[in-house]
Amino acid sequence: MDVKKILADVEAKNPGQPLFLQAVTEVLETIEEYVAANPKYDHNKIIERMVEPDRIFQFRVEWVDDKGEIQVNRGYRVQFNNAIGPYKGGLRFHPAVTVDTLKFLGFEQTFKNSLTTLPMGGGKGGSDFNPQGKSANEVMRFCQAFMTELYKYIGPDTDVPAGDIGVGGREIGFMYGMYKKLARENTGVLTGKGRNWGGSILRPEATGFGGVYFVDYMLKKAGKDIKGKTVAVSGFGNVAWGAAIKATELGAKVVCISGPDGYIYDEAGISGEKIDYMDTLLQTRNNVVAPFADKYPTAKFFAGKKPWEAKVDIAMPCAIQNELTGEDAKLLISNGVQLVCEVSNMGCTAEAIHELQKAGIPFAPGKAANAGGVAVSGLEMSQNAYHLGWTAEEVDTKLKQIMLDIHENCVKYGEANGYVNYVKGANIAGFIKVADSMLELGVC
Ligand code: GLU
Repeated sequence: MDVKKILADVEAKNPGQPLFLQAVTEVLETIEEYVAANPKYDHNKIIERMVEPDRIFQFRVEWVDDKGEIQVNRGYRVQFNNAIGPYKGGLRFHPAVTVDTLKFLGFEQTFKNSLTTLPMGGGKGGSDFNPQGKSANEVMRFCQAFMTELYKYIGPDTDVPAGDIGVGGREIGFMYGMYKKLARENTGVLTGKGRNWGGSILRPEATGFGGVYFVDYMLKKAGKDIKGKTVAVSGFGNVAWGAAIKATELGAKVVCISGPDGYIYDEAGISGEKIDYMDTLLQTRNNVVAPFADKYPTAKFFAGKKPWEAKVDIAMPCAIQNELTGEDAKLLISNGVQLVCEVSNMGCTAEAIHELQKAGIPFAPGKAANAGGVAVSGLEMSQNAYHLGWTAEEVDTKLKQIMLDIHENCVKYGEANGYVNYVKGANIAGFIKVADSMLELGVC
């Protein structure tokens, strides 16, 4: 495979899409050697086929705000690859959402879903709608308008959306209500549903829990223990919240959380009611973390700064893409960080990953470490198909096993000279299942 040529083609065909190019570059550079050793992939142009989404829907979403003004947003669904199962992936509502964002996320999702061991293809969608400052009724009207178009392209065996940034249980409820009405069926086409209407127990916690299970497996592999470790988590949303609960439960101390306005350092540790307060803050939908320091005297707020300047053992980016840069990685390394586990999608820049790997710090990519979220979505789909609900213990046992399998696969394909390159391991393991399926399914 000529990586340079394929990347040049991807760049030429997708102008102005740096995030998509970044995601593709990372994958191609790490699978190059494996693909070269297995010429069947090259002969069948598997890479060229994989970097092209199956299809992209773009649509107008019009709705009326509380003042009676008509608002127009853009909605999307990127159906990236369904070789191993129905398209599956979240919906992101964020003003910065473009087709580039959703193509990078859909591409990542294809590999992530493959790693979960469950039969799910890759997809992603969303809108440039900004939920911040909108009333509940405005959010409802937007979600309903969005679904009147999206419902045409999704279905329980076709494409199953879920939440992502800006889309939580409330938004899934508004969208599922409208889907049910339009499609006249109750088949669980969205995941992340409420417990009373088909949702899985532990789905809200799953991404954060899975991320911490992954950290635990990484530490064990390095002969270390999570107990007593200090942790910096970025963000204060659903993912950061789940990570804080599980990290605390396993004996670590979470000392940082953050928002777009800055970060909190709490030397007493963020546990118990402080974790509940993270959710309270999230529900205010102001997207600021500063009030945390007003409420808890041990917490300090650092305006406009990132948590990566704090001295911690473990860093877990849990917010948004490219939130940890090469400079941040250097700072973490100089402060003695022992492990970095990316729980946000593509949370670290290519430079940051390079710095960490160069320093021999174990680094896990989001597509492996945050796969617990979509994995429990897959379990929600199974429960819906069976028309039953599993207990928390059953779901948690399955989640732990899935994260362990992902970890083992990363080690299998990424370990060399005593260092596990989790990026390489995850990309190769994710690639093989999708690529072999495409080979078996023919050119279609
Ligand atoms: N948005 C989440 C992710 O990035 C969850 C997707 C899902 O549950 O389908 O994996």
